[in-house]
Amino acid sequence: MSLTVDLRSDTVTRPSAAMREAIASAEVGDDVYGEDPTIIELEQRVAALLGHEAGLFTPSGSLANQLGLRLHAGPGEEIVADSQAHVVRAELGAAAVFSGITTRTWDAPRGLLDAGALRAFVRPSSGPYLVSTTAIAVENTHNFGGGTVQPLERLQAVRDLADECGLAVHLDGARLWNAHVASGVPMHAYGEIADTVSVCLSKGLGAPVGSVLVSSTERIAAARIWRKRYGAGMRQAGILAAAGLYALDHNIERLADDHVRAQRLAFALVEAVDAVVVPEHVETNIVVLDLAPTDWTAAALAVAAGEQGVRISALGPNFARLVTHLDVDDDAITHAAAVLTHLLRSSP
Ligand SMILES: *Cc1c(COP(=O)(O)O)cnc(C)c1O
Repeated sequence: MSLTVDLRSDTVTRPSAAMREAIASAEVGDDVYGEDPTIIELEQRVAALLGHEAGLFTPSGSLANQLGLRLHAGPGEEIVADSQAHVVRAELGAAAVFSGITTRTWDAPRGLLDAGALRAFVRPSSGPYLVSTTAIAVENTHNFGGGTVQPLERLQAVRDLADECGLAVHLDGARLWNAHVASGVPMHAYGEIADTVSVCLSKGLGAPVGSVLVSSTERIAAARIWRKRYGAGMRQAGILAAAGLYALDHNIERLADDHVRAQRLAFALVEAVDAVVVPEHVETNIVVLDLAPTDWTAAALAVAAGEQGVRISALGPNFARLVTHLDVDDDAITHAAAVLTHLLRSSP
């Protein structure tokens, strides 16, 4: 069997022929001079989708997040986020390295927000002895939580708390598209609960590169300066923005297929070993496995599955992650489910 199914992440997608055509025919200019029409179109379109004034194209989601955070906190100030947040776990300490920001975290099962618990946690204007909180970072969908969709009421409760306390809210919306498709909540409704929002084009949407940070005109002007300072001012990057525009036109609604396939996978695996996954918690395109009830470590399972052409991520001793995306079809899921259920029913 030579079929390879790559479920490590939805970043592994390759641009389709039609996307490559859009790339090839893109109108471009020097974006550091503000003259790339395709980038300008992408930035304006994403900002409008999210109900914000302006947008900024960045090469990665991490940079979009870090530009957002630095607009809300300076050296010695604090942002708070849940302990599994991408800005905490997967950006290599960038908030501390780039901006001198302290991060304080709380544990959130599946990444789900709880404004009630947050209320006791944030410490705005803490005076001369204690670190002052200036912003709350939230994530939707929640990656390491298992693709969790944050209910709009919970996001709104965090917004209300932030308003009460004079705090800013940054929304890491790398997979906000998945949340929108799964919940039916309009993108702008999510956008409106935050002061800054980042969205990725290179995950489920299938573009090769790119994220967009949106906010007010004033904040985005400041972020543009910081982006250049960090060395990420790009020139004729309209060829990349064209892929993003193509993705917005063609690849949002189809995320529903990825969600159905993730569900199929979860139901197949829970048949094999009860309790490795809770299918009801698989709301979008991410399936996280808790291998504690098995003899497998995540690393051993990843190696054994890889030998049979199924690539998965080991993100902790017992914690494996499978992600569906536009390069994984029904046959690929059937194959992955067969390989993984067979392994889970046997011993390492
Ligand atoms: C992938 C991801 C990002 C951005 O990652 P980059 O690899 O820097 O583009 C940010 N937040 C979340 C939740 C992600 O999953």
